[in-house]
Amino acid sequence: MNKAIIKLPLAIEEDVHNEFRMHAKLMLTELGKFQSKQDKDGSIRRTLQPISKTICAFLNTDGGRLFLGVNDDKMIKGITMSKNMIYHFFGSLRHMCEKFKPFSPISRIKVSILEVLPMDDKTKVKLRKVDMDKEEVSDFPKLANHSVGGFFCDCFKEINQAATKQYLFIIQVDAPDKDATTVIYQNEEGLAYRYNSFF
Ligand SMILES: [Zn+2]
Repeated sequence: MNKAIIKLPLAIEEDVHNEFRMHAKLMLTELGKFQSKQDKDGSIRRTLQPISKTICAFLNTDGGRLFLGVNDDKMIKGITMSKNMIYHFFGSLRHMCEKFKPFSPISRIKVSILEVLPMDDKTKVKLRKVDMDKEEVSDFPKLANHSVGGFFCDCFKEINQAATKQYLFIIQVDAPDKDATTVIYQNEEGLAYRYNSFF
């Protein structure tokens, strides 16, 4: 069975292993100018953080799960996308991984996509697994017809079409191999994030 009924709000807390987001902007270059604010002292503060920051922290700590399409109240709302936009997302994810240093941690990253089907009973939601024909992020080809890593791509226009649906993305970052030498990853901004597990 590829369908599941989930009780809301989710019985998961945000912590060093779980994070909820209501957007799918992976890199800083995908965020618009309006997603930052200028403080009184002139410094720029981001109002939206790129997903790459959390992926970097998970890679440098002991892994975790990012839920895209879940709000702060732990309700599954989904992210509105067309199938073509989902392909764009995978292309972007691969592109982002290739910008990480040391080169591409892609083998530690897996993505599940679930279609969000609302129910009359608002305390529940139905999820249906989406089969993308491809198993791993690395299986997705480089996309010649998409402008990945940027603020805009033509496929984003499809957001206004009837063929969009709501999707929950679960990005799983595996813990490093126990025997592997310690590697500290930097994201595409050249910044190394890490979770402090002592809080
Ligand atoms: Zn695109």
